[in-house]
Amino acid sequence: MGHVLEPNNDYPLLPYDAPEWTSRLAVIPKYRVQLGSLGTPIQRWRLPGMPEDFQVHIKRDDMTGSVLSGNKVRKLEFLMADCLDQGCESIITCGGVFSNSCRAGAIAARQMGLDSHLFLWSESTDLPFTGNALLDRLVGCNFYLMPLDCPLETQVYPRMKLLQDHIQKTTNKKAYRLPFGGSNEVGVWGYIECFRELMGQGLLDRFTDIVIAAGSSGSVTGLAIANYLTGSKLKIHGFAACKDQMFFYDLGDKTLQSLGLQDADGAGVKAVDIMHIRDEVVGIGYAVNTSEELECIEQVAMNTGILVDPVYSGKATYHLLKLMNEKPGTFKGKQILFIHTGGVFDLFSGAVGSRLTKKGHKENKVYDWMDLSDKVPDKVSAAS
Ligand SMILES: *Cc1c(COP(=O)(O)O)cnc(C)c1O
Repeated sequence: MGHVLEPNNDYPLLPYDAPEWTSRLAVIPKYRVQLGSLGTPIQRWRLPGMPEDFQVHIKRDDMTGSVLSGNKVRKLEFLMADCLDQGCESIITCGGVFSNSCRAGAIAARQMGLDSHLFLWSESTDLPFTGNALLDRLVGCNFYLMPLDCPLETQVYPRMKLLQDHIQKTTNKKAYRLPFGGSNEVGVWGYIECFRELMGQGLLDRFTDIVIAAGSSGSVTGLAIANYLTGSKLKIHGFAACKDQMFFYDLGDKTLQSLGLQDADGAGVKAVDIMHIRDEVVGIGYAVNTSEELECIEQVAMNTGILVDPVYSGKATYHLLKLMNEKPGTFKGKQILFIHTGGVFDLFSGAVGSRLTKKGHKENKVYDWMDLSDKVPDKVSAAS
């Protein structure tokens, strides 16, 4: 099935007007493209089992779009602008089979008339037809499956570069390499800009702490940079869904270095000084869950109608509740803003569904229609 790809002119490069407080940074994007439905709402979130003296609100970044939903869209607005600005006609990126970053990148690319190449860490040699992978397949990505232990810096990035050169040589077209999780000195602007949006929503007066799930560090680092540059005194917490603290501080430091962020004495600002990573959140491992975490996801959905995913936002929610109850001193105050980073498609890829469908699960409320006939008043059944 051959088709001719044409860049879609509905995605113009919009000049980016960076906040004035970012003028010290060495990299300031020239352009962004509009991909997300931004200005997402902040709502009160009455979590089941939370202590009474805490108040939690939720920033609905799961509402940044439908298939483009989640935190990655904010980064992609800057990364895809850079891609177009460089005249690239396809993207090359990497992530897990569950990757929201790859899915959002691939769908954004296709909407913009570009092709995608995804390097995916996979347990199996077969790509599933569920969750994010199903959507990646639907938009016609090219897949390169890698073993789970294939290292990013020494193996994956060099191969992405080889493919980029190959595409250039064989088609004379440029391909754009998107980093893991979209986290670099360009993608980080997604959450620097989000901080500006939050300030317009009363962030500084209303909250003491921001909690966000972390995977490649870009989102929490963006918030921490903005918090530092504006001189605001919120405590920024990154709840790690994979790896350990050092992984996140190292990635954060790389970005801070590229941006040339220095303190008043001219020393480089360190990630560990501006954000707090909690790595017990990963629990028994990346993208695997304990039954307590799955129970929490169900209870939160049941009680609040907010759907959190098993890989990131669900684990973060579970540990937010645990910390508020067991170690309240972790937080600067009692007014927490939780950023919902999306990830809804991972609800369709395994653990949550298979738990709910277990026979006898207490939340299984499926009744036989015939059983109701003698319990429903005649008037109601006649009306339907
Ligand atoms: C990628 C992702 C995160 C982590 O964001 P990073 O910027 O990579 O740290 C959190 N939640 C969801 C749903 C994600 O897809």
